[in-house]
Amino acid sequence: MGLNAERVYRAPRGNQLNTKGWVQEAALRMLMNNLDPEVAEHPDQLVVYGGIGKAARNWESFDAIVNTLKVLEDNETLMIQSGKPVAVFRTHKDAPRVLLANSNLVPAWANWATFHELDQKGLMMYGQMTAGSWIYIGTQGIVQGTYETFAECAKQHFGGSLQGTITLSAGLGGMGGAQPLAVTMNEGVFIGIDVDQTRIEKRIQARYCDLMVETLEEAITLAEAAKSEGRPLSIGLIGNAAELLPRMLARGFVPDILTDQTSAHDPLNGYLPVGYTVEEGKRLREEHPVEYVKLAKKSIARHVEAMLTFQSLGAVTFDYGNNIRQVAYDEGVAQAFSIPGFVPAYIRPQFCEGKGPFRWVALSGDPNDIYKTDEAILRAFPENAGLQKWITMAQEKISFQGLPARICWLGYGERAKFGRIINDMVATGELSAPIVIGRDHLDAGSVASPNRETEAMQDGSDAISDWPLLNALVNTAAGASWVSLHHGGGVGMGYSQHAGMVVVADGTKDAETRLERVLTSDPGMGVIRHADAGYALAVETARHHGIVMPMLGD
Ligand code: NAD
Repeated sequence: MGLNAERVYRAPRGNQLNTKGWVQEAALRMLMNNLDPEVAEHPDQLVVYGGIGKAARNWESFDAIVNTLKVLEDNETLMIQSGKPVAVFRTHKDAPRVLLANSNLVPAWANWATFHELDQKGLMMYGQMTAGSWIYIGTQGIVQGTYETFAECAKQHFGGSLQGTITLSAGLGGMGGAQPLAVTMNEGVFIGIDVDQTRIEKRIQARYCDLMVETLEEAITLAEAAKSEGRPLSIGLIGNAAELLPRMLARGFVPDILTDQTSAHDPLNGYLPVGYTVEEGKRLREEHPVEYVKLAKKSIARHVEAMLTFQSLGAVTFDYGNNIRQVAYDEGVAQAFSIPGFVPAYIRPQFCEGKGPFRWVALSGDPNDIYKTDEAILRAFPENAGLQKWITMAQEKISFQGLPARICWLGYGERAKFGRIINDMVATGELSAPIVIGRDHLDAGSVASPNRETEAMQDGSDAISDWPLLNALVNTAAGASWVSLHHGGGVGMGYSQHAGMVVVADGTKDAETRLERVLTSDPGMGVIRHADAGYALAVETARHHGIVMPMLGD
């Protein structure tokens, strides 16, 4: 997709302000960073990742946001409604500088048809998760979560390593593109199918994927050779998953692990039906959207049927949070939910300890700032072997996209501790400019998503979305720099509600106080949400840390 030369953005670097304060500056730089061509999937359309996940509703809105951030005072708050700046109100210095609400619809109207109608009228945009909350950092952002998931899968099924196994998946887009690297970091072999050759090329360029092939035969031959030698290898295979999975079955090939990260959550924009090239699909989508969705759903059903057959043949199969099971189920694939979701299968125990994605970005643009924080985190948590391994590997294998950034998973207590360390490093001048700290929405306490983060909660509270609303409220009260409330991220309209937060470490005492509060209440929401649901590990974590829960009992 060509870039509009007049509309190529890259965040400003260095420590000169373009705004009236570092929090506003951080919002400005992170908005632009979301649209950096190195970071975003289709920046010319304001699309950051995840189907049509956007950073601003349209270019007029983008310009108005930028202009407003430039003059926004330290006691004002900019309100964003689905990517459009709608007001500035006087608040106070500890209030968020930006409040965002993206893609929210009243529950009975919360479906794609209503959304698309309103989107076309120019009244909404799809915010996905970190696209509309301005803290997307490119594919790296998801690598660690993906790495954790495959590591847990390796632990549960393959003795702790993926060495000598083949993982098959599809979708090498903004997030799915993390899969090849996450698998090879776990010593395994990976085949990733994508219909769009340019997506595979992008992963190869970023060193997330080793090579690209055009035929299934080549992919299988290369993968099997690497598997038998115990050598990590990642292969991007050009093609349509709904067509290639049945062909692999017919050929008698069964992977050890099987999942999927096409954007099946959005059949109109995220999944190409069988029989169409990317270009033909684009035309069909524009000219006959209803027909497109019908065909895409049919292909998704075929895709999931093949996944179920692979599962019955012994492949460790799991849904990777793209709602593909629901779409197939609605198309008549009655067994779709026999495929387990990755959260209950691999992630929930971490959520019980308030663990989840913690990312930070160097506003200076200087990679050395991140390398210094890498050293700091290694010093701060010497006992955390997984973290030590991850940071070391990340330094070696991960190319920065846009502003240099790092991600790791940290739990309750750890986040506040590291936030303070970072703020001190900014204060002493060890880092050359402030740091932005945030997280994505694959998170313990800020998401209600019954087919993903809150699937199969032990008290049946999967669909209760009071929790993300409380998360946004408490982060606002605690003084996050910007807070967002979204609907439909990850799994599509009607299936999730979730909240984002970002907090800036600018080295000031005020920031120190805000960081302490936000980085405690935010993961704290994860602990209490799971403790309230009755998870013993979360109850123990809440007690251990003295989190006050009036009805927890003894
Ligand atoms: P994306 O839209 O950037 O990428 C999707 C990719 O799928 C594209 O490269 C597209 O070419 C490819 N594709 C579409 N139809 C295909 C088909 N029939 N066969 C093969 N390839 C096809 O999206 P993304 O950001 O990579 O996210 C992918 C999905 O994963 C989304 O549904 C997202 O919500 C979900 N997700 C899950 C997690 C998680 O942690 N589990 C995290 C983020 C995203």
